[in-house]
Amino acid sequence: MTNPFQLLGISDDVVNAVKDLGFETPTPIQEQSIPVLLEGTNDFVGLAQTGTGKTAAFGLPLLELIDFKSNKPQALILCPTRELCLQITNDLKNFSKNVANAHVVAVYGGANIMQQLREIRQGVQIVVATPGRMLDIIGRKAIDFSAVKYVVLDEADEMLNMGFQDDINDILSTTPDDKKTWLFSATMPAEVRRIAKNYMDNPVELTMGTKNTGNVNIEHEYYIVRARDKYAALKRIVDFNPEIFAVVFCKTKLDTQDVAEHLIKDGYNADALHGDLSQQQRDKVMQRFRERNMQLLIATDVAARGIDVSGVTHVINYSLPDEIESYTHRSGRTGRAGKTGISICIINSKEVGKIRQLERIIGKQFTKAELPTGFDVCEKQLFSLVHKVHNVEVNVEQIDQYIPRIMDEFKDLSKEDVIKRFASLEFNRFLDYYSKAPDLNAAVGDDRGERGERGERGAGRGRGSEGYTRLFINLGSVDEFTRGDMLSFICNNGKIGGKSVGKIDLKGVFSFFEVEDAVADTVFEGFKSVEFNGRAVRIEKSGDNPREGGGGGERRGGGERRSGGFGGGGERRSGGGGGYRGGNSGGGDRRSSGGSGRREGGSRDGGSGGGFRDFSGRSREDKGGSREGGNREGGSGERRKKW
Ligand code: AMP
Repeated sequence: MTNPFQLLGISDDVVNAVKDLGFETPTPIQEQSIPVLLEGTNDFVGLAQTGTGKTAAFGLPLLELIDFKSNKPQALILCPTRELCLQITNDLKNFSKNVANAHVVAVYGGANIMQQLREIRQGVQIVVATPGRMLDIIGRKAIDFSAVKYVVLDEADEMLNMGFQDDINDILSTTPDDKKTWLFSATMPAEVRRIAKNYMDNPVELTMGTKNTGNVNIEHEYYIVRARDKYAALKRIVDFNPEIFAVVFCKTKLDTQDVAEHLIKDGYNADALHGDLSQQQRDKVMQRFRERNMQLLIATDVAARGIDVSGVTHVINYSLPDEIESYTHRSGRTGRAGKTGISICIINSKEVGKIRQLERIIGKQFTKAELPTGFDVCEKQLFSLVHKVHNVEVNVEQIDQYIPRIMDEFKDLSKEDVIKRFASLEFNRFLDYYSKAPDLNAAVGDDRGERGERGERGAGRGRGSEGYTRLFINLGSVDEFTRGDMLSFICNNGKIGGKSVGKIDLKGVFSFFEVEDAVADTVFEGFKSVEFNGRAVRIEKSGDNPREGGGGGERRGGGERRSGGFGGGGERRSGGGGGYRGGNSGGGDRRSSGGSGRREGGSRDGGSGGGFRDFSGRSREDKGGSREGGNREGGSGERRKKW
């Protein structure tokens, strides 16, 4: 049987490569655009959501059109972020793995430019670039674009939103006039239209799905909660979906970090992704997420833009985005490659109007969902456990040796009793936490008790082992600490012997460690004014962080805590030892995370200035900021639609 990609005109070598990637049939966008683009004679505008197979839609035709005997750049692909740049490069390398002498280079900020220059010098046919670094390389006269035949502008709307308009103009002016330009965009604001008009000659236009319509595989839901209950609501949604694999969007870097830190402390397998992380940290976070060593990625819009991780089950809008159109980009992280996904907005009652606006923009209705009760969560978790027990792979070789002893232990119990006990082991923890959990659903107009954006700070894992005090320290594996390093660091600065140190729980940007109760004060004293890499080292009693809403002393749980400063209260039910999740936040080496505030290039924060207009037509100056590398966070140089 002829392969459907072959029928579209793709050659055997490339077809075999995409087969290896598991592509069996072309996606609708591929089906429609490949034959048009293969002609190589048209400019092209594709209005397509992310996750629809866009990269292959332009990538496969490019591979057919390029002369790989020549080592000159013939195709230039511009995209807004470093992550997307790497993704496209990787995809193209995979598609062309059987094509002799095919060379694709990724050009993006924040990475070693020398290496990129070297690759370019060695000869490449396809350049995938973020605009800033591309211009830098053009400025060094290190690339010859005279043979470029195709320019692809991917996620054109985002590039414009991020203020790359001038850069794009400058880059395109170095390419031949007779090149063909292929533009892809998830949305088609006037600015993108203008580009199409200015740069393109009678382009073929294809719209995949209705204009501005979100991916059909995504369901949209919203939950109304009081602002102070937001975090509790997030946790409840996560708990109600034991197999969740989600991206949680926050508005600011600080929020992503804050939410991630609290989730981690509460025993969830989460981490933050934002522009203050170094490239290396971001790569590590992304790698862990991709490999599913992390369940919850807490991200800013820019950091998560264009991310293609398959199987994301939920996108959670912890805060609605500032720009309406960002919602499409956020929700596009789920429902990819034909899978279904759910995009959730946690809002307060004053934001219902924004949901209506979103419905108009994406042309789809949101479902108003109710947060599950504590009991619902317990039931869901219980059956998830039962399911897991039923399906667990039994390592007969290892477990058999213990069976006689285990059977002996259980000899006075019936099968039913044993099952009840196993199930209770997990169930009790949830029940304990959720038995008195309040109803978090707020009615429209119910703004009682609104006190800022932070809500429950969860069941902090506040107590150490018997006789030990559990301490928090703002250093972790991100700072290249191993457990051994941490032990020496604690002993040296805390002026105590190793024997007084209990468990050390190394996290990304922070860690927990236990010291004998008797030496806790000495350790506090010793750590006064200690610095590490120019950063003040902070230790606190675990669960004692003032940002968690509350004064000193350990959290010993019991009852609701609603008072306190920043992040005050919310449910805090577990007794001391912390969240119902227990102490283990799950697999994987947690190295990277937010937090250090370091910036080692690579991210463009703040945007390029320039006014943008909100719906009311007011003009506002963006905060400005540095342009250092491949990514920008925050501002936009272009007009952006505000609520
Ligand atoms: P993209 O929109 O190019 O980022 O693609 C989204 C996801 O769909 C990526 O993970 C691709 O590997 C995957 N994909 C693209 N085309 C196909 C196809 N024809 N069959 C299966 N998966 C695909």
